[in-house]
Amino acid sequence: MSLPPPFDAPLILQPLSLDWLQRSGVEGAVLRLDLVDPELSGNKWFKLVEHLQAARRADASGLISLGGAHSNHLHAVAAAGRRFGLATVGLLRGHEQETPTVSDLRAWGMQLHWLGYGGYRERNQPTFWEPWQARYPGFYQIPEGGGGVLGALGCAALVPRLQASLGSVGWSDYDVIWLATGTGTTLAGLVIGEAGRHRVFGALAGPPSHAVSAGVARLLAQAGVADGGYELLDASRGGFGRFDKELAQFILATERAAGVPLDPIYTAKTMMALRLYVERGYVPAGTRLVFVHTGGLQGRRAAQGQLQKLIDG
Ligand SMILES: *Cc1c(COP(=O)(O)O)cnc(C)c1O
Repeated sequence: MSLPPPFDAPLILQPLSLDWLQRSGVEGAVLRLDLVDPELSGNKWFKLVEHLQAARRADASGLISLGGAHSNHLHAVAAAGRRFGLATVGLLRGHEQETPTVSDLRAWGMQLHWLGYGGYRERNQPTFWEPWQARYPGFYQIPEGGGGVLGALGCAALVPRLQASLGSVGWSDYDVIWLATGTGTTLAGLVIGEAGRHRVFGALAGPPSHAVSAGVARLLAQAGVADGGYELLDASRGGFGRFDKELAQFILATERAAGVPLDPIYTAKTMMALRLYVERGYVPAGTRLVFVHTGGLQGRRAAQGQLQKLIDG
């Protein structure tokens, strides 16, 4: 499918120069999905692409989806709706609150409904969507986080685009991919795109769970791809969304040393897990490693104060 500008531009691949990579003889490059567009970027954009195509095929009158008050996914849905002229509705977890994310959602014209915590937990019940379908007829439902096989297929398209960008770091090939993992949809997409050529490491932002590994296996089965060629590892550092001083300092140090901004929930924890792996000697010298920067920087705004306090404290 052909994408409109700026989404059709070559992906930005940059050398990742960090002393702990160099000391171990590992060559790194970072695929900057965070730089695709100022409003609509990261893995959430790629997870949306095929859903947007499906919405267009269905001649949908709008998009409806769900997420939390810092959701990178709802942020991307609202931005996409505005960019491509579709109305958007967001069903939010918890009670009404103002966050930088929520104020963007409003500014971009997303209609917001706060479901509380109990109401949000109902989202997987078979009857959950009925009242919303009645209220917003013809709206295309995007699964939480932009998941499902369409979400994965949008990410599979990253692989040829990564290959097309290798020249910018002077590589003809690479050995492994690392990326932050939540539901595993993005990881599954990369595994589908790789078709066994390169190993993909998914660093889990939350504690390892059967739901994630089963979800990845299901997506691969749906895409007709063998269940293999990837590894899931625990990068959660005490739990999803938990921050500590070492993490806050690491974010600052990595931005200074490599010019790469990281978000505290996903990409920073992944990079820290990678450092541990490299320092323990699990990544052989000479490995060419692609770190997929999955974005998430919009969500960092709300965490900034807490991170600064951890650094000062
Ligand atoms: C949502 C998100 C992820 C996780 O993506 P999954 O497809 O759910 O595994 C990783 N990184 C960032 C920055 C995200 O926003």
